[in-house]
Amino acid sequence: DTLAAARNWSPKKNGEPMESMNVTEIFGENTFQQEDLKEQLPKSIWKDLEKTVEEGEQLNSDVADAVAVAMKDWAMDKGATHFTHWFQPLTGLTAEKHDSFITPNQGGGAISEFSGNDLIQGEPDASSFPNGGLRQTFEARGYTAWDPTSPAFIMENENGSYLCIPTAFASWTGEALDHKTPILRSNEALNKQAKRALELFDVDAKRVAATVGTEQEYFLIDQEFYYRRPDLMTSGRTLVGAKPPRGQELDDHYFGSIPDRVLSFMLEAEKELYKLGIPVKTRHNEVAPSQYEIAPLFETCNIAADHQQLMMITLKRIARDYGLECMLHEKPFDGLNGSGKHLNWSMATNSGMNLLEPGDNPHDNMQFLFFFSAVLKAVYENQDLLRISIAHAGNDHRLGGNEAPPAIISAYIGEQLEDVLTQVLNGNAKESKQGGLLGLGSPVLPSLPKHAGDRNRTSPFAFTGNKFEFRAVGSSQSISFPIVVLNTIVADAIDDLCTNLEEEVDRAKSFEDALATVMQDALGECKDIIFNGDGYSDEWEKEAEERGLLNLKTTIDALPKFTDEKNISLFEKHGVLNEREIHSRQEIWAEQYLTTLNIEADTTESMAKTMIYPAAVRYMNELAENVERIQELGIEGEGSKNMLKKVNKGLNDLNIALEELREAVLDSDSENVIDSATHVKENVKPAMTKIRDSVDFLERHVADDYWPLPIYREMLFVK
Ligand code: ADP
Ligand code: MG
Repeated sequence: DTLAAARNWSPKKNGEPMESMNVTEIFGENTFQQEDLKEQLPKSIWKDLEKTVEEGEQLNSDVADAVAVAMKDWAMDKGATHFTHWFQPLTGLTAEKHDSFITPNQGGGAISEFSGNDLIQGEPDASSFPNGGLRQTFEARGYTAWDPTSPAFIMENENGSYLCIPTAFASWTGEALDHKTPILRSNEALNKQAKRALELFDVDAKRVAATVGTEQEYFLIDQEFYYRRPDLMTSGRTLVGAKPPRGQELDDHYFGSIPDRVLSFMLEAEKELYKLGIPVKTRHNEVAPSQYEIAPLFETCNIAADHQQLMMITLKRIARDYGLECMLHEKPFDGLNGSGKHLNWSMATNSGMNLLEPGDNPHDNMQFLFFFSAVLKAVYENQDLLRISIAHAGNDHRLGGNEAPPAIISAYIGEQLEDVLTQVLNGNAKESKQGGLLGLGSPVLPSLPKHAGDRNRTSPFAFTGNKFEFRAVGSSQSISFPIVVLNTIVADAIDDLCTNLEEEVDRAKSFEDALATVMQDALGECKDIIFNGDGYSDEWEKEAEERGLLNLKTTIDALPKFTDEKNISLFEKHGVLNEREIHSRQEIWAEQYLTTLNIEADTTESMAKTMIYPAAVRYMNELAENVERIQELGIEGEGSKNMLKKVNKGLNDLNIALEELREAVLDSDSENVIDSATHVKENVKPAMTKIRDSVDFLERHVADDYWPLPIYREMLFVK
């Protein structure tokens, strides 16, 4: 049973303890690295490939053939028998369909085949993936196309292994059906505009790309509990369950020493991640009991996005070897902190210059302030898109609770930078301030603060020294769309600023003057997005409203805005998503929201009816018998009678709530997905809460040995 699992787990696998790790030796062992290729490819072909990978040039087909041979040899050497195009459909998960390298032939032998074509393009019959109207079933063909910028890798277990080739996934008309395609397109848009800006600053860069590093939070519970909770299995969160007498109040878990079983799991998961070339850096206990965090170093955005998916898969997979279930849901337990995924974002040139690094010298200052202001402008003008990028059913439980950033998008920049921006805004930045912060136009510009002062945990979008940290991202979601939005809106803001600057330069005395004017205008427009105070407070909600900032509380408030004219033209202008692709995404995500809630409603209903109700009835019978016995014996005693009344009341309330839920569910069918989802949010969700209230009441009154579900105390404190 469970306690046995917690007591008898072993750090040994197949009777052997895990070999200690030599990180430099195993790092990237299971990825097909550029260096491997460089050795094997003819020089001219290597040069062509390098151009594609590093400068985003179109791939030529000779290269593909040569790479295919090298890749197959490498993979088969490592024992891989199959290959798959690995892609990221709009479910937010990853998909694969395996093909064998070896085809048996008629003579009883076998030939191994894998050509440039197999590498470049695949045609999985993936007609069941969500497409939001982009594909009719009669034209259901979807194509996968190799992304040479993300390294191929091998997935393995004790029994075998296969080669995964990162690919994009599109319809036969070329419309993106996945998460990777828009990342690549948006990175291209950012590259174009950032290079244009750098040119104005006289900086030569071959390529600019967004850099991304994530911090992933998750829960671990004993697998036994997980399998005994239908809600965890179907929905990833507890739909009923009373808060334990002891939660996170003591703060004794946060940054505490890591329990042994968990540490063993982490070590092995990290080993697997290293093999996949994922640069894991930190691990620690998080705020809630049994909550943890893992963070890799940042990488180029599309690789970071692939690696993020691999990280989630690996955490879940390895946890099972230790009898644990890794839960990535945003809110597995009511009344305890949920999980998020901080998305650290910046821009860097191919030579590694971070465009959001304040730097020490005056020239850097100006350039930094330009890109920094572009991000603020982007966030101000596109609060809706940022909110949409993190909108899904799970995240609705977190945002705006007193544990996670609010649904209002604002930016924290720290006091020192705010002071700097105020100077720019007032046009008096030319005077160097005492203590030396900044003067924008003078030849002597004092240096900027390197560390952005205090940390503010309550901001959804915070500048932390040399990058922005988007903190409202949900723990279970793909980070791709948030990246797409950031890349695109910042590209657009840089575009605007460049246009203004180019015009102003003709008018102004000097580049510095022109820049000062442009920045002053831009900051004047977007300064309301800056908020350094407490984002969890009620006052902020009021103030944000006065400032005219959006407060899109739930997924269903946010999603309809996706198709606003402003957003369609923004994405089309930068070649990231066309109107059809936007509509399809909106429909898919609304559908996912609706499906999630429907599953939760069904599960709540069935658990309440088939597990909770019967348990309470059995206990009631026992109490009733006891009350009768007491009467027969003629002793005084109100205890059992009182308890009987309470359980009876709980059951009656539960019964009423169940009927309300049934009605709400029946009413919710509408032609339009958003309408249905709105109905579900407004009627089904409250009915579910009511059921939960009566179930949780019963949990506190029904004898423990009758209670059919593992309770919070067990799930959270058996480690
Ligand atoms: P913090 O203490 O502010 O959370 P860390 O140094 O722990 O900062 O970094 C958190 C995450 O931010 C890591 O994944 C890290 O790699 C990432 N990060 C650091 N610099 C950048 C950058 N320039 N661009 C993107 N992500 C970055
Ligand atoms: Mg951080």
